[in-house]
Amino acid sequence: MQHLEIRLADTDSSYSLPPFLKSRARTRIVCTIGPATGTLSRIKRLIRAGMSVGRLNLSHGNSDHHNEYVKILRQAAEEMGVAVGILADLPGPKYRVGEMAQPEITLSTGQHFVLQREVCEGTNERANVWPLGLHADIKKGSLVLIDEGSIELRVEEIDEEEIHCRVTMGGVMKPNKAVTAPGNTTTVDYFTPETEEALAWVISSDIDYVGLSYVRDGDDVKRVREHLADGGVTPQLVAKIEIQQAVDNLSGILEQSDAVMVARGDLGVELPFERVPSVQKQIIRMANEIGKPVITATQMMESMIESPSPTRAEVTDVYNAVRDGTDAIMLSAETSVGKHPFRAVQAMTKISKRAERYLEYPKLAGRRRTAASKGGLAVDDAIADGAAVAAASLNAKAIVAFTASGSTAGRVAAYRPVTPLLALTPDIGAGAKLALRWGVIPMVVPEHGDIQGMFTAASELALETKIAKEGDVIVAVAGLPIGVPGTTNLLRVITLPEPVSHRG
Ligand code: PGA
Ligand code: MN
Repeated sequence: MQHLEIRLADTDSSYSLPPFLKSRARTRIVCTIGPATGTLSRIKRLIRAGMSVGRLNLSHGNSDHHNEYVKILRQAAEEMGVAVGILADLPGPKYRVGEMAQPEITLSTGQHFVLQREVCEGTNERANVWPLGLHADIKKGSLVLIDEGSIELRVEEIDEEEIHCRVTMGGVMKPNKAVTAPGNTTTVDYFTPETEEALAWVISSDIDYVGLSYVRDGDDVKRVREHLADGGVTPQLVAKIEIQQAVDNLSGILEQSDAVMVARGDLGVELPFERVPSVQKQIIRMANEIGKPVITATQMMESMIESPSPTRAEVTDVYNAVRDGTDAIMLSAETSVGKHPFRAVQAMTKISKRAERYLEYPKLAGRRRTAASKGGLAVDDAIADGAAVAAASLNAKAIVAFTASGSTAGRVAAYRPVTPLLALTPDIGAGAKLALRWGVIPMVVPEHGDIQGMFTAASELALETKIAKEGDVIVAVAGLPIGVPGTTNLLRVITLPEPVSHRG
C-alpha cells in the first residue's frame, strides 16, 4: 500500500495522500460494477474518478463474475492505497421475470401474455416470474408492471400456475427485470431461495456492505443480520427503501440498519412517481437525524448510459441530492453497462463539489444535534459535535479522528464538519466500512503505542500530506482507552508541529 504506508521510526515516518483523494468530492460515489467496468484497470479508473464503493447486484450475473469483481476491487484498492468498500445487493422478496429465449422480447399493446410459475425461457407469449407468490398478492383487474413500468399488464385470470394478462402498454422485455404490482404488499418470506443463495455467497465472500432489497420493516433487517452473524460475518446493512411499506416503517428500519438507500427506481413504480422527491428528502432528513449514511440511487446520470454528457435535469438532480444532505450518490447501469462510465463518475464528482460549496453546514449539523440531544446528549456525540464546531471556529486545517472500528470518524461525519475529516485506523476493514460516510478520508496507519504518539502522528501526517503547515491548527478526536469502540471521549487542539513523543 504505497500511499498509506508509514514507517514508525521517529525520524523516518512518511505519510502521503494521493492527489486524487485530496480533490475528491466529500459526497461519496457508489458505482455498480458490470461488464463495462469489471477489469482491474477500469476499477482503478473508477477509483481515480471518485468511486469509494463498488456495488455488485446479486440479482444479475453469476457468482464467478461476483467473485472476480470482489478480487479486483480489493486488488485495485490495495495497489492504489485507498479504502474502497464493497456493497452486495440481495435480491430480496422482489418479483422478476426469468430468463428469455432472446435478449430482448417485444410485447405489443392489446396482446395476451402469461406470467407463469414454472421456469421457462421467456417468449412473447409467456415468461416465468420468481420467486413464487405473485398470484397471492394480486387479484383480477390488478395492474402489473414489468421493468419499472416499461410494460403495463392488466390481470384477467389467476390460478396457482398462471396469471393471464392483457398488455395495456407494450414495450421491450429483458431477462430478470422487475415485476411490480403497485400498491400491493409482498407476502412472501424475506428469505426467498434466491436471497438465501445470495446470503450464502456473502458469507463465503469478503463484503463490507449488504444491500437489502425490498425491505418491509425493521424485522427484515434484524433477521438478515442474525442470519449473517450465524454465518460468522458482520457486514454493514444498507436497507433499500423501495416500497410504500418501507416508507411507512422508516424509523424502525433506520433503527435496525447501518445505512439506507433511497431506491428511486422501484420507489417511482411502487409509489406515484410525483411522490419520489419528497420521500427522498424525508428519508435523507431522517437518516441525517439518526446519523447514519444515506445513498441516493438510480437514474442520476441515466442518459450517460449512451451519451457522453448528462442532461441538465440530471446535473440538477445530483446537485439537489447533495444539497438535500445525502452522504452518497449511486450509479447503476451508467457504470455497469454504460458507454461512458468514467465520464459519469467524473461528472458526479464535479457536480457534488460545486453543490458542497453551498451546503448549509450549520443546518445539517443542527439536524443531527437536535435529534441526538433528545433524552440528553451522549459523551461521544458531544465530542463529535464539539470537534466540528471547534475546528470551524479555529479555522483548523483538518479534523483527525483516530478510529479502531470506524465509529468515532463516522460520528464526526454525522455533524457534517466544514473542515476536512481524516480517519486514521490500523484496520483496512474499518476504512472500507467508512467508505459510505460523507466527507471521511480513511487512512490506514499502524497502531499508536500511546496517546502522545497519536498526537505526534496526527501532526506529522498533517504536515507531510501538506494538508497543513507549521503554525496551523488541527483538531484530534479519539477514544480512550485506545481500541475500545464507541468511546469517543477526547478532543485535542494541536498547534503544528506537535513535539515528537518519546517511546521506550
Ligand atoms: P435496484 O435498486 O437497482 O436493485 O433495483 C435501486 C432502485 O430500485 O432504485
Ligand atoms: Mn430496486
